[in-house]
Amino acid sequence: MRTIGLLGGMSFEGSATYYRLINEGVRDQLGGLNSADTVLRSVNFDKIVEMQKAGRWDDAGQYLAQAAQGLERAGAECVMICAVTMHLVADAVEAATALPFIHIVDETARRLSANGRQRPLLIATRYTMENGFYQARMAKQGIEVIVPDEAGRLAAHDIIFNELCQGKILDTSRQVLIDLIATAKVAGADSVIFGCTEIGLILDPDALPLPGFDSTVIHADAAVAFALG
Ligand code: GLU
Repeated sequence: MRTIGLLGGMSFEGSATYYRLINEGVRDQLGGLNSADTVLRSVNFDKIVEMQKAGRWDDAGQYLAQAAQGLERAGAECVMICAVTMHLVADAVEAATALPFIHIVDETARRLSANGRQRPLLIATRYTMENGFYQARMAKQGIEVIVPDEAGRLAAHDIIFNELCQGKILDTSRQVLIDLIATAKVAGADSVIFGCTEIGLILDPDALPLPGFDSTVIHADAAVAFALG
């Protein structure tokens, strides 16, 4: 089994999901008391959020790049960022070590394509929805990502940071997100990407107006495949 390297803590609520899914995935395949061989570097999220708010993406990239080098020294055989937003600095993290980097957007694009989906709605932080990196990477695989209007993007962003990343799951916010999905369906979306690692805490991908693709689950699946592949 190969050792999985996780950059986590962004937020720890999302990283806890990764930890559980990856270990369950290994146990499902190997049985008994098998679990994943993992190195986790979990950062103080507040420090990352400060850099995000100030637009200090280069600093954030350097910080995570150093953390990735720490994973390598600790024996990791791949690197994964357990947050979608911080894939904004994926190039810096990927370049920091010689290890394979498992990219959440690429894995999600492959899963969408395998399911014949080409026009997903993206629900994520404003950074992910508005920067353009996510759409550009998906477009390379022939997928046209659509995002909510400005009010919808703001609502999703606030739900992520003020609630989900702080362990608060509210029915009213679930309905706000479901309404965004229903609106996107009318506008021609054929699926919805949970493009933030905490969305799966509040939405059930199989109980929505459109089929849901939880990128945390997809990314964790890729980790298990790497570990056992
Ligand atoms: N975990 C979230 C994500 O997947 C949001 C936290 C962050 O901004 O890094 O994007």
